[in-house]
Amino acid sequence: TLSDRLTSVFTSLRGKGRLSEEDIDTTAREIRLALLEADVALPVVRAFIARIKERAQGAEVSKALNPAQQVIKIVNDELIDILGGETRELRFAKNPPTVIMLAGLQGSGKTTLAGKLGRWLAAERNTPLLVAADLQRPNAVTQLQVVGERAEVPVFAPEPGNGVGDPVEVARASVEQAEHNNHNVVIIDTAGRLGVDSEMMQQAADIRDAVTPDEILFVVDAMIGQDAVNTAQSFLDGVGYDAVALTKLDGDARGGAALSIRHITGRPIMFASTGEKLDDFTLFHPDRMASRILDMGDVLTLIDKAQSTFEEDEVAKMAGTLASDDDFTLDDFLQQMGMLRKMGPISNLLGMMPGMGQMKDQVENVDEKDLDRITAIIRSMTPAERGNPKMINGSRRLRIANGSGTQVSDVNGLVTRFFEAQKMMRQMKNSGMPGMGGASGA
Ligand code: GDP
Ligand code: MG
Repeated sequence: TLSDRLTSVFTSLRGKGRLSEEDIDTTAREIRLALLEADVALPVVRAFIARIKERAQGAEVSKALNPAQQVIKIVNDELIDILGGETRELRFAKNPPTVIMLAGLQGSGKTTLAGKLGRWLAAERNTPLLVAADLQRPNAVTQLQVVGERAEVPVFAPEPGNGVGDPVEVARASVEQAEHNNHNVVIIDTAGRLGVDSEMMQQAADIRDAVTPDEILFVVDAMIGQDAVNTAQSFLDGVGYDAVALTKLDGDARGGAALSIRHITGRPIMFASTGEKLDDFTLFHPDRMASRILDMGDVLTLIDKAQSTFEEDEVAKMAGTLASDDDFTLDDFLQQMGMLRKMGPISNLLGMMPGMGQMKDQVENVDEKDLDRITAIIRSMTPAERGNPKMINGSRRLRIANGSGTQVSDVNGLVTRFFEAQKMMRQMKNSGMPGMGGASGA
C-alpha cells in the first residue's frame, strides 16, 4: 500500500526541515505508483503529479507536519479538489417534474440505482416515479418493478401485451403521467449493452431529446478500472451527462475510476452506491474517496488532528526529541503522556497509526487517575533519575514511592512501562514512523 511505501520514504525524509526537490521527486514517484495501482488512468496520473509537484515546490514548510506528511497533505487536498471538492447536490427543475435519466453499460447498476435514488428522494418528501425505459432485455421491466416495490416507489411501465414498445414513447408518456399524478421527480431507467455500441447510444440520445432531462446521470461500475475512461468518454460524446453515479464501491476497487472520470470529463460525481441493498447509497464525498484512492486511511485523519491539536512549540519539542540522538527520558515520557491526552482518546489515535498496535495496548490502560499518579511519581524523582532511569534501584524506588504517596509496585509498574516505551521510541526513530510529529524543522 501507499502507506507502506511512504513509510520507507519517510525514513529518508526524516530530519529535514524543508521539502527539497529530491524529496518531492521521491514522494511523487511513490504516489504515482499508488495512483496507478488504484487504476487511475496514466494521462490523469501524469497531469495530477505535475500539479502536485508544482504545489509542493511552492509550499511553505509547516511547523506542525514533517515533510512527508506535508506532501501527503498536499496530495490529499489536491485529490479532494479534483474529485470535486464539495458534494454536488441534485438540481431540481423550477417546474416539476424534475427529470433524471440514468445511462450506462449493462450491469453498471442503473436499475438498482433507480430504486435507491427513488427511495432516498421519497424519504426527503419527494414523490418520485420510476420509469422502465429499458425494453431491451426481457426481464428488465419486471426487475424495475421488483425494485420499485421494495423501495415503495411507483413504477411506470409499458402496458403488458402491447408488444415490445418504444422506450422513447414510454419516457415521454411517463413525464405526462408524472404531471397528472403530481410526481415531482421522474427517474428514467434506460437500456445498456455490455459494450458501448451506437444503437444503444442513439436510443439513449433519443430518450434525452424526447424528455430533455434536468439531470443525466452516467452510472458506472467502479470495478471496471482503466476502462472507465473510455466508457465515460463514449457516453459523454454519445449522450452527454451532467454528473456521475459510481457503483459497486463495496468491492475492492480503490476507486481510481472516480479520479479518471472526473479529470477527463469534468463532470462531478454525485452518488456512490456501495452494495445491492436499497440503503447502500450515499451522496459522493470527495474527501472519503481521496483517502480511499490514496489508501492512507486514517493516517490522513491523524495528520489533520496533529495539525489542529498540537501547539507548535510542543510539536517542536517533541520533534526535537524524536529527531535527536538522545535517548528517550522519563521527562519526555511525561510530556508525551500529557500531549497524547490532549489529542483526545489516546487509543483511537494510536490505532490510526500503522504499526502502533503495541503502543495502543500499552497506553490504552492509562486513564486520568493513572496519569496523575505517573506525574506524581516522576516529579518525585531527581533530575538524574529522570534522565537515567536505569539508576533507579530498590532503595530509590522506596524513596520515590514515599515521596509521591504511591506504592513501590506503582513505581515498578511505571519504570517497566517506561522501558517499553523507550524501546518503542527507539524502534520508531529507526523506522521513521510517520506519526508523532517526526522532524518538523525545529
Ligand atoms: P443495470 O444493468 O445497469 O440496470 O444494472 P443492475 O442494476 O441490474 O445491476 C447489475 C448487478 O449489479 C445486480 O446484480 C445488482 O444487484 C448489482 N449491483 C448494483 N449496484 C451494486 C453495488 O453498488 N454493489 C454491489 N455489490 N452490487 C451492485
Ligand atoms: Mg437495468
